[in-house]
Amino acid sequence: MHDLKALMRPAAAVLEPYDPAFAAVEVNLSSNENSFGAPPAVCDAMAHALAQTAANRYPDPLAPALRAELAVWHGIDPEQIIVGNGGDELIFNLFLAFGAAGAKVVNCPPTFSIYRLYAELLGCMVADVPRDPKTFAIDEEALLAEAANARITVITTPNNPTGTLAPLALIERLCAATEGLVLVDEAYLEFADSPSSLALLGTLPNLVVLRTLSKAFAFAGGRIGYALAAPEIIAAFAAVRQPYSVNVLSQAAAAVAVRERAAYEGILRSIIEGRAWLAEELSKIEGVRVWPSSANFLLVRLPDAHSIWERLRDEHSILVRDFSQTPGLGDCLRITVGTPCENERVVAAIAELLGKDPS
Ligand SMILES: *Cc1c(COP(=O)(O)O)cnc(C)c1O
Repeated sequence: MHDLKALMRPAAAVLEPYDPAFAAVEVNLSSNENSFGAPPAVCDAMAHALAQTAANRYPDPLAPALRAELAVWHGIDPEQIIVGNGGDELIFNLFLAFGAAGAKVVNCPPTFSIYRLYAELLGCMVADVPRDPKTFAIDEEALLAEAANARITVITTPNNPTGTLAPLALIERLCAATEGLVLVDEAYLEFADSPSSLALLGTLPNLVVLRTLSKAFAFAGGRIGYALAAPEIIAAFAAVRQPYSVNVLSQAAAAVAVRERAAYEGILRSIIEGRAWLAEELSKIEGVRVWPSSANFLLVRLPDAHSIWERLRDEHSILVRDFSQTPGLGDCLRITVGTPCENERVVAAIAELLGKDPS
């Protein structure tokens, strides 16, 4: 065996292991996590639920208790919901169930890189409909044309890493214009002042909405995401999934989080206020450009971004995400909104590194 790559699936042989560029830092604003964590009362309720959970038994594959809580929250039928090991698993499973060699997947970069990665791994062909280079708005007519004969079209709203919203009217037109499925990734919807496309589920049979507990619910480590769609689409997700991918402990804790969702409202408000504060303070620093964001992060452009990213990490123990090598995002960094204290640290550090006093 001398050429291991030759033994691999060709689409896998060209990949490198995913590197989130983790570093041991004091302030981690790199992965759009929720720095606040869950409210203390919810943590107590989770601890109680975990103590009652029998980890010697395999999980119920479809997470019925969690599914029931989600169904109540969203006012839809449990048959319209599937829970996954993070939203990422559901993106993979969507391409696994509905993609095929040569099937067309459409997305709008700059966007979440996972779509292209998983689609290509599963043999799909990815077509890009690039966003406006200045505003990151979607080119709606180009998208509608490209999506017409696509198997799966992905719309991310708010978009990662740009923070841009997609209008609901576009999603409606897209679902009508394509012969395939439309995935609306709403991983950050809880931070946006705009309605979810969930309201359209009843009328659009090819719509798939993706949500996650990783961001607003501060549960990234618990790995719980879910998709909402017509029962036939959910059945296809269920058919291809690994039956035990969502463990009993995460199912139990997530059911508590969803049941106690009202307790998270203060944290969400703090993040939304923190986003406004951070955007205002960063844009006061000369040379820094901040895009409006409907998510829990800001995309910024600043001079010599890669070197600023390194110095934030090495001199200030602050980790943000470096997008400066991504096409269309030259000199861009993505900064997660953290606690007020974390937000102040990142503003002061960037002001200092750019040689300006924070005002
Ligand atoms: C974070 C994120 C997800 C899902 O993340 P999980 O932790 O796997 O649930 C999905 N889409 C986008 C755009 C994201 O940023």
